[in-house]
Amino acid sequence: MPTPGLFVVGTDTDVGKTQVAAAIVRSLRAAGRRVGVYKPVASGCGAATAQGSDPRMLWDAAGRPLEPADVCPQTFAAAIAPVAAARAEGRRVDEGLLRTGLDRWRTVSDLVIIEGAGGLFSPVGESTLVVDLAREFSFPLVIVDAARLGAVGRTLVTVRAARAEGLRVAAVVLSHTVPLSPETGPTSTTAIVREAAADLTRHLATIPVVILGHGDSRMPAGIDWEQAATG
Ligand SMILES: [Mg+2]
Repeated sequence: MPTPGLFVVGTDTDVGKTQVAAAIVRSLRAAGRRVGVYKPVASGCGAATAQGSDPRMLWDAAGRPLEPADVCPQTFAAAIAPVAAARAEGRRVDEGLLRTGLDRWRTVSDLVIIEGAGGLFSPVGESTLVVDLAREFSFPLVIVDAARLGAVGRTLVTVRAARAEGLRVAAVVLSHTVPLSPETGPTSTTAIVREAAADLTRHLATIPVVILGHGDSRMPAGIDWEQAATG
């Protein structure tokens, strides 16, 4: 049986994908699984070993299997789209390597967690979008949005677009990318996000909707992520 996995994609850039991917990885490791971690390309990232970079955070969460360069074989320094970031260094994104970089993980992992770059339709190469990789890897999606106003609209656009592409959505996660303010009442972020999660649950019916708190290192209990990857 091929190695199962999940593909963590965003509704946009900077919505908390890495935190979510790392939290899923730690939850699976706590259940005794060998978890591979892969990010096809990262920009705004000098090297895969850089502290605080996406590949480094994924690698640390996974217990440092293989090498950081295996987590993300292509990193570019400028915090812009990968193709432009590569060009700024006189390089090109290797579109084959975006795909084959995953192979290294299949033999050493019980399952693999992939983090995309940007949103579902963000370009990751001259002729490759995140959605193209998602279709080829054929892992169920975990769709991440930032836990803030507008989450219902942003998330439903991405879920419906994913389904239109024939992709399966395993879960939706609203990720708190900033600490909560002490505000209370209906205009507080806590209330807005609770309301958004309830709305999404109603609209999505069969897809679990989870909230990840700021700084939480593991996913809240209640979802079997291995089952989500294989089922
Ligand atoms: Mg990230």
